[in-house]
Amino acid sequence: MTNVFKSKIFRRLPAVDELLRTAEGAALVVDYGRLNVTEAMRLELDELRARISDGALDIDKLEEALAVLPEALERRVKRAAGYSLRRVINATGVIIHTNLGRAPLSREAAERIAETVTGYSNLEFDLDKGERGRRDGHAQSLFSQLFARQGISQTATVVVNNNAAAVLLALAALAGGGEVIVSRGELVEIGGSFRIPEIMAQSGAVLREVGTTNRTRIADYEKAITERTRLLLRVHRSNFEIVGFTEQPALAELVELGRRHGIGVMEDLGSGALVELESYGIAGEPDVYSSLRTGVSLVTYSGDKLLGGPQAGLASGDPAMIERLRAHPLFRALRVDKMCYAALEATLVTYLREEYERLPVLHMLRLPAEDVQRRCQSLAHSASGLSAKVAETESIIGGGAAPGKTLPSFALSLACDGMSATELARRLRHQATPIVARVEEDRVLLDLRTVDAADDQYLSEALANLLKSDPV
Ligand SMILES: *Cc1c(COP(=O)(O)O)cnc(C)c1O
Repeated sequence: MTNVFKSKIFRRLPAVDELLRTAEGAALVVDYGRLNVTEAMRLELDELRARISDGALDIDKLEEALAVLPEALERRVKRAAGYSLRRVINATGVIIHTNLGRAPLSREAAERIAETVTGYSNLEFDLDKGERGRRDGHAQSLFSQLFARQGISQTATVVVNNNAAAVLLALAALAGGGEVIVSRGELVEIGGSFRIPEIMAQSGAVLREVGTTNRTRIADYEKAITERTRLLLRVHRSNFEIVGFTEQPALAELVELGRRHGIGVMEDLGSGALVELESYGIAGEPDVYSSLRTGVSLVTYSGDKLLGGPQAGLASGDPAMIERLRAHPLFRALRVDKMCYAALEATLVTYLREEYERLPVLHMLRLPAEDVQRRCQSLAHSASGLSAKVAETESIIGGGAAPGKTLPSFALSLACDGMSATELARRLRHQATPIVARVEEDRVLLDLRTVDAADDQYLSEALANLLKSDPV
C-alpha cells in the first residue's frame, strides 16, 4: 500500500471529539465518566492507526472496524474501569478450588461483614472499660464454646492471615533457634509454594528429618530427640496419598512420646473441618476436634477450606503456647483485619447454631447426587445447537482435604460439531458472569454440585445463547 493511499485511510478515522458527540459515546460518558471514555477512545484509535500503518487494514476492513467501533469502545472502557476480581460460576465440581477463591462465604458471613465494616467497630476497643482493647480477643470465645461442646476444654485460638502464616508463626514462636522433628513422608509442598522445609527455614527452627518417604516409626522420632528439640510436627498429607508399603505412627503415639519427653506436638491439619467428616461420607479424615482430643499441643488449619469461612489461619491448643504466638513480633505482621473477624465470627455462630446447611461448603458436600442429576437433566434442554448429555462424574473436595476422596456426582456434558471443547470452555469463561468448566476427552463437563441452584437459570440462558455470538 502506498503512503498516499494510507493517508487516505487515516483520514477516515474519526477524532475523539467526534466520537464523544455520538449517542453511544455520550452514553458511555454517563456510565463511566469522561476521562475513562476519552482514554479508551484514544487507545482504540491508536490501535487502528497502528494496524493501518502495518498495512493490516485496507479501506474495506477499516469500514468494518468502524462499524463495530462502539462495541469495541464499550468493551475497552469496561475492562479498564471495571473490576479485576469478579464473581464466577464454578462448574468444575471441585468444592474447595484454590484458584476460584476456595470456600464461598455464607449469606450470614457476607451480611455480617457489611454490617460491621461500613461503620466503625470495636476492633481494638474494650466497650466495658472504654479503653483500648485486644483485636485478638474476637472469635476466641466462639472457638472455645465449640470445643467445649466436644468435651475439649482449656484451649485458646489465635487468628492470622492464612494457615501458612499460622505454621510460620507457631514454628517461630515455639521452636525458633531449636529443632523440630518431622517425618520425611510429611515434607510436603502444598499448591502455591507452601513447602514445609522452606517455612521451617524462615521460622528460624531447624528441621530434623526422620524416617523415609514411605515409612517412619515412632522409634525414629525418639532417637532424634535431643535437648535442642522443641516440637514434634505432624503435617497432614493434604494433596497426596502414600499407598502400599507404608507406616506412620498414630498421632496418639506421637503425643505420648512428646509427653514422656516434655515436648509439644503440633499438627498442621490444613483443611480444618469443624464437623465430623464421617457424617459427610468422607471416611478416615481427621477434623480439628479429633486432633485436639488426641492431645496435640497445637493444631493449625485454614479458615477457607472445609471450615467454610474467610481466608484465615487458625492455631488452636494449649493456652500458654498460644500466648507465646501472640507475643511474637511476627504476630503483628500476620494479623487479620476486621472483615476477616466479622466473617469468621458469623461462620462460627452458624456452627454453634448447628445450621451447617447454611455454609455453602458443607451444603455442597452433602448434596445428593440425584439432585445434581435432576438439575443437569433440566439444563440439558436449554443447550441449543449443542450435544448435551447427562454424565456420571465425581466431584473433588479439593483444597488439600481428603486427598483421593471424591463424591459421586453428575455433570452436563457438552460438545459441538465443528467447535472444540476448549473453544466451548473459552466461550463459557467469557460470559458476563464467567462460567468455569472442566474439559475431558474433548467434551465440556459442567458439574452442578459446585453451582448454586440459584444460578441454574443464568446457566440455562448462557447455554441457549452460547453459539449465537462470539463473546470476547
Ligand atoms: C492448605 C494447607 C496449608 C496452607 O494453608 P493456607 O491457608 O493456604 O495458607 C498448609 N498446610 C496444609 C497441610 C494444608 O493443607
